[in-house]
Amino acid sequence: MDTHALAELLFPDVTDTPEMLEEKFPLRNVPEGAVITRMAPSPTGFVHLGNLVQGLTSERMAHQSGGVLFLRVEDTDAKREVPGAVKVLIETLKHYGIQFDEGATIDGDNGLYGPYRQRSRAGIYHVYAKQLVSQGMAYPCFCTEEELSAMREKQESAKETTGYYGKYAIWRDRPMTDIQEALADGKSWVLRFRSTGSITNQFKFNDLVKGELTITENDVDHVLLKSDGIPTYHFAHAVDDHLMRTTHVVRGDEWLPTLPFHIQLFKALGFKLPKYVHIGPLMKMDGTSKRKLSKRKDPELALTFYKAEGFPVSAVYEYIMTLLNSNYEDWRRANPTAPATDFKFSPKKLNPAGNLFDYAKLTDVSKNEIARMDAQQVYTELVAWAEEFDPEFAAEITSDPAYTTAILAIGRGGKKPRKDLAVWKDAKDYMGFFYDKYLTAPVFDEKFSHDTVKLVLEKFLEKFSIADDSAVWFDKVKEITAEIGFTTDMKAYKADPDAFPGTVADVSTFIRQAVTGKTNSPDLYTVMQILGYDRTVARIKAVIQAL
Ligand code: GLU
Repeated sequence: MDTHALAELLFPDVTDTPEMLEEKFPLRNVPEGAVITRMAPSPTGFVHLGNLVQGLTSERMAHQSGGVLFLRVEDTDAKREVPGAVKVLIETLKHYGIQFDEGATIDGDNGLYGPYRQRSRAGIYHVYAKQLVSQGMAYPCFCTEEELSAMREKQESAKETTGYYGKYAIWRDRPMTDIQEALADGKSWVLRFRSTGSITNQFKFNDLVKGELTITENDVDHVLLKSDGIPTYHFAHAVDDHLMRTTHVVRGDEWLPTLPFHIQLFKALGFKLPKYVHIGPLMKMDGTSKRKLSKRKDPELALTFYKAEGFPVSAVYEYIMTLLNSNYEDWRRANPTAPATDFKFSPKKLNPAGNLFDYAKLTDVSKNEIARMDAQQVYTELVAWAEEFDPEFAAEITSDPAYTTAILAIGRGGKKPRKDLAVWKDAKDYMGFFYDKYLTAPVFDEKFSHDTVKLVLEKFLEKFSIADDSAVWFDKVKEITAEIGFTTDMKAYKADPDAFPGTVADVSTFIRQAVTGKTNSPDLYTVMQILGYDRTVARIKAVIQAL
């Protein structure tokens, strides 16, 4: 077989050579040890936690080493493409602190190693396809779908491994005349790799996460170019990561089964193999067993979910870091205010088996994150969230920013800050009562007569002064307690509850409910200070009237 003639026959228009491409995309001028890596998502419009895990790993590895992170859009499957998906992807990742130095952008390409959208690279893939054919390492296959599925059925019923290999690779050694005839008939063809591997051979391979792997050689003649001339993932991966000078491929471990083929392909193309970082899946507990997070079953897989719930970006970031590097939490405790980028991230610390995603833990991390923020920052983030997800609440809280900031300052700072909020969505429930719009009517404990409650409230109104400090304020509450025959001695009450009609806690609760509508609220004295004299009194009066 004259393979050069075959290469010309299949790719008559390809005049560029691999040498020309080598020259066009030279090795990058980066410091020794710099990691050049990429994210290479398919533009499906769905950005998930796995993308963030992969993105953060790549971003840290690149930027920590003085390297480059670029974005390549793997749009070879036009059927799966969703319009606007690239924009969503870029914006979502940016929201979580992942910025690309180079690659596809919303408006086009940025960088010297493009194009960064695979469909614009057809000409480049064909240069290498032609080379492989010319070297006898690839050949056209004219099998129809029907022929391939008949082959598969035959293999299945004979309990053989399915696929296009060995004696099943029926176009592998066809004479030129058969190929010419098929082309003349206008039959469609794919380009296949001519594998020289054998499944009886194994070799060792080191993955940065999985450690040493024993790999069995690939013997399947996989497809390199589909019938429309667009490459498969495998071929595009080899060509693109070579020409873009990727040093580390960070990707999901669902690609491990085809890694033997990738290694083989890099070798056949004469490319240096990058290092591989295969990330395990994210899992969750389902009852007592673990399973992979699923797009269909788990809304918490989508990154949009965290935005809508109102998790601060920094909380999600912190949580993912604790998931990826087990020493991150200790580092954070020792460096509570340091930027997360000061932490020395290591891909070697990733759990090879993947990670268990723990929503409760994320919520906990988020509570701590919000507790660490100052009132101004909470205000800014809360308003940004509310403007998008609860505009009515946004309008309320922004109508008097100083008032809202004072509310958000309650219990902040100090050694033990309050942890009322895990997500911005919690805010309305927690502080809504400060705004008349969200104030609810109190429901008093039926154990006490309305007259008793009323008496307490009237007495409070007589004594209340906004100028009192908290000690005086509380003395007044105790006075009222004594005046109505309730006790301030909680110990005595606990020892013999029947001996007292009620306690100072009950008195406080009546007042709290009248002012906030709820039995639980932040420190009542502070609440009144923020509400101010007029609003506090008006609320209590309204409740007295309704009783
Ligand atoms: N397009 C592939 C995916 O979305 C990229 C895998 C890779 O990073 O190489 O899974």
